[in-house]
Amino acid sequence: MLTDIETVLIPRQRIAHRLKELSAQIARDLDDLPDEAEIVLVPILTGSIIFLADLIRQLPQKIRIEVVTVAGYPGKSMTSRGPQIIGALPDDLKDKHVLIVDDILDSGGTLRLIREKLASRQPKSLRACVLLRKQRQSALDTPCEYVGFDIPDVFVVGYGLDYNNYYRNLPDIGTLRKEAL
Ligand code: 5GP
Ligand code: MG
Repeated sequence: MLTDIETVLIPRQRIAHRLKELSAQIARDLDDLPDEAEIVLVPILTGSIIFLADLIRQLPQKIRIEVVTVAGYPGKSMTSRGPQIIGALPDDLKDKHVLIVDDILDSGGTLRLIREKLASRQPKSLRACVLLRKQRQSALDTPCEYVGFDIPDVFVVGYGLDYNNYYRNLPDIGTLRKEAL
């Protein structure tokens, strides 16, 4: 499987280091919120699972987790067909502090859609956190409070990100060889 990787863009040590900074910043901001409302993290499945697992263990606050499943890249596709929400959205978000967690910000369609849907549940605050953001205008134009890394506009796998549902278990983030596609 490792031989399918063309270039490692972000090795595991850099991910771990950046996650410490990012989680410290998020924890500080959560502490600075003026009220005692409950904190709810809303991870977008499936890509965010590894990021979420590492992130939440560095947040000392009492948090609830409510998942949302979005499918945009069916099967072997490398371009989004537009985000589709699978199943129900969490509905008990009124007056809570909500933080959306996703793996990567690409066209921004997923984040915009989820933000709009969750905003209608009237949370007290609504923020978003992504591990990666691609350097393309639509991604940069999408509101997102926390970004782990800005990366080139290339298709990446590893650390939760898949191709055809494979490679999520790679500890590093990298690009795939053409032969693996
Ligand atoms: P957007 O809706 O912003 O175009 O895309 C966001 C979703 O598409 C992410 O949650 C992720 O699941 C998927 N995605 C976007 N870019 C990539 C990529 O380079 N690699 C992988 N594996 N998934 C991606
Ligand atoms: Mg996703």
